[in-house]
Amino acid sequence: MKIAILTSGGDSAGMNAVVRSVVKAAILKGCEAWIVREGYEGLVRGNTEAAPTTSYVGPSALSHSEFPLAAMNIINNLRFGDGELLKDGTGDYTSGRTLKGRYIVRVGWDDVRGWFTEGGTLIGTARSKEFRTPEGRLAAAHNMIKEGIDALVVCGGDGSLTGADVFRAEWPQLVTDLRAQGKITELQATTHSHLKIVGLVGSIDNDMSMTDLTIGAPTALHRICEAIDNINSTAFSHSRAFVLEVMGRHCGWLALLAGEAGGADFLFIPEQPPKSQPWEDEMCAAIQKHREVGKRKTLVIVAEGAHDIDLNPIKAEYVKDILTDRLGLDTRVTTLGHTQRGGRPCAMDRILPTLQGIKAVEALLDANSETPSYMIGVQENKITMVPLMEAVAMTQAVTTAIGEKDFEKAMRLRDPEFRESLDAFIATSSLSSSKKLPASKRMRIAIMHMGAPAGGMNAATRAAVRYCLGQGHTPLAIHSGFRGLLDDDLGELSWLGVDSWMARGGSELGTNRTLPSVDLGAVAAKFQQHSFDALMMIGGFEAFSALQILEEGRKYYPAFHIPMVHLPATISNNVPMTEYSLGSDTSLNALVEACDAIKQSASASRNRVFVVETQGGKCGYIATMGALAVGACLVYTPEDGINLDMLKRDVRFLKARYKLDAKGKAEGRLVIRNEAASSVYTTDVITKVFKEEGGSLFDSRSASLGHTLQGGIPSPMDRARAVRLSLKCMSFVERHHELLQQQPQKTRVAGPETAAVITIQSSSIIWVPVQEMVQHADMVNRRGKTAWWAGIKELVEALVARPQLAGLQ
Ligand code: ATP
Repeated sequence: MKIAILTSGGDSAGMNAVVRSVVKAAILKGCEAWIVREGYEGLVRGNTEAAPTTSYVGPSALSHSEFPLAAMNIINNLRFGDGELLKDGTGDYTSGRTLKGRYIVRVGWDDVRGWFTEGGTLIGTARSKEFRTPEGRLAAAHNMIKEGIDALVVCGGDGSLTGADVFRAEWPQLVTDLRAQGKITELQATTHSHLKIVGLVGSIDNDMSMTDLTIGAPTALHRICEAIDNINSTAFSHSRAFVLEVMGRHCGWLALLAGEAGGADFLFIPEQPPKSQPWEDEMCAAIQKHREVGKRKTLVIVAEGAHDIDLNPIKAEYVKDILTDRLGLDTRVTTLGHTQRGGRPCAMDRILPTLQGIKAVEALLDANSETPSYMIGVQENKITMVPLMEAVAMTQAVTTAIGEKDFEKAMRLRDPEFRESLDAFIATSSLSSSKKLPASKRMRIAIMHMGAPAGGMNAATRAAVRYCLGQGHTPLAIHSGFRGLLDDDLGELSWLGVDSWMARGGSELGTNRTLPSVDLGAVAAKFQQHSFDALMMIGGFEAFSALQILEEGRKYYPAFHIPMVHLPATISNNVPMTEYSLGSDTSLNALVEACDAIKQSASASRNRVFVVETQGGKCGYIATMGALAVGACLVYTPEDGINLDMLKRDVRFLKARYKLDAKGKAEGRLVIRNEAASSVYTTDVITKVFKEEGGSLFDSRSASLGHTLQGGIPSPMDRARAVRLSLKCMSFVERHHELLQQQPQKTRVAGPETAAVITIQSSSIIWVPVQEMVQHADMVNRRGKTAWWAGIKELVEALVARPQLAGLQ
């Protein structure tokens, strides 16, 4: 099959990762990979010049007999440069002379190397008027058939995907017309009787229904949160108000998540305008309250397409005037504009597009004339395939519902997480006292951090504290874990006191690894002394172990018969059963940033292999996902260990790979090694082995990322997830507290379900009693017995053709 990919509509970070992944997956499956430059416009223009004949600048000394046959597709591709981009010799085909007059271009394996780190789309995008016309689409079909393309991957927004579906539906007629006009032969008409199309959603707005995330939205959120964090400090200094306008014509996702993750005071999104009219009163009352409790800074976020309930636009300048005139605040407007589109893709915008690109190629290979065109999406942690037009129709239904002022319907049509985020924003930003529970239902909720610090711990605590205060509960912060509890190092937290915690890394409460077993009786006495009604522990494996100890301690100590929850937060992501812990996204982003810099240095020295050591204890999650996110060529994990055979194969692979590099274009390469992958084959040993074996082909250096992986400022995803999960923990303890209250106090027995861990499993959030968790835990190695990401290592190696180049298969 000849598979072509194009990017269309507005650009977004992660589009290059899609192109890279589709190209590599296509070649791995034995297909030809093609790119279409400038979106649909490139299809319409097609090729007016022949492919360049310049021979590939790669080496020629390698004999075919050195490799088994199965590897030949890739090796041929590498050696003879089936791709046109490197053939051009410039490596930068967009300015390449030989590509003039060529919009549909065959690409090779190495043409897309290093594309991961680039923002935007290197193959260009456009909004094509021509493609909207039947004549334009006829020309596009003709150009594709001339090049023999039978399958198309389109990465763009809902417009681009609609165009893709229109094109596919029309295809048989276009072929008939081309044949009737004599532009194609009978054989071409038969061979290309139907077109296979798959859509990937590239859009910074996250405005597509039936997928949790669109490609580029997480990076745009990073850009916005960086801006908010910068604004916050100056706003605080001058006690100013800022009105921030963010992108989102029909979708408030960016504004909402930025508001949630950035700790805004008020926000305006198209799906849910302020309910009261005039809304100016509601906004001013909320902000006035914040100022009255002593807040020095104010942040209001306005989505580009915000409006009131009568659909009158709400503009940032107007909001500024209101805040200035009515509240006397020194107010400034910041419009982020195109800065939101740009910059390096974040970890998620490398991982998801890679997985989705591979799925897109699989979908094309499975497609026939009967199957619908699919859109590749993601739900929580699963790559999904949904009928493209269903997703587009649902997306357009949101816009229609907003246009009809049916805001409830617009909210219903967004995924449930959207509603949860809005509720979470309201719960953590408002200072309303009207919703307080009756005194009998109010609780004293203890909050504790355990283990190593992880991004999002403070955000989760802030959310819990603010929720508690809103409900009338007393939030009690325990400092320095169980040690602190035994020393009575605890106190109440205030609404204002936690205001700036969203963006803070580390642990504001202080954390400690001591388990309650240090003196269980004394711990129970403290629970009793401080009248805890519930406990929330935020941390990693220690918190899980502590919860298990407390739950078992219920046999002896009545004080533990209260609801107790564990919210997983650890960069190692080693808590059993949950697919994500708070902090793991921050950590991946820290790894990506560090590795991008290391790779740059490695590439500058041309033929250098960097062995990068990561934290993670006995869990290879960070190493493996990090390797996928930075395009590392090898990864060593504690789960698989390291042995001599492995190292021999890896050396063979590296040698083969460096031999195949074009002259003067050898690349710096990364190898990621988890700190506990082997006690014998340490990072130092591996580096020396590679250096020794590399000879004149490559040399080797090492770098250890150490504690930098705990990250500075938590990522927006970790912050938003922290808020959402923390509030779920609060409703869990409220629910179980109410049930327990129905039992007489003296004989009160809390069942096993009341000591639980909040987990993310596939597309659901599931409470798992700690007793059940234990059965899924490898207590010796401090990780889960199974890991959902286990297959990713193979993928990392497939994307560098390790098995083929090491001659394994
Ligand atoms: P963004 O979310 O950034 O706006 P988009 O994909 O929605 O991205 P559009 O400008 O709507 O951006 O569409 C991109 C291109 O897709 C258009 O320029 C056009 O070439 C093609 N296209 C859109 N809708 C159709 C359609 N109904 N029929 C044919 N082609 C279309």
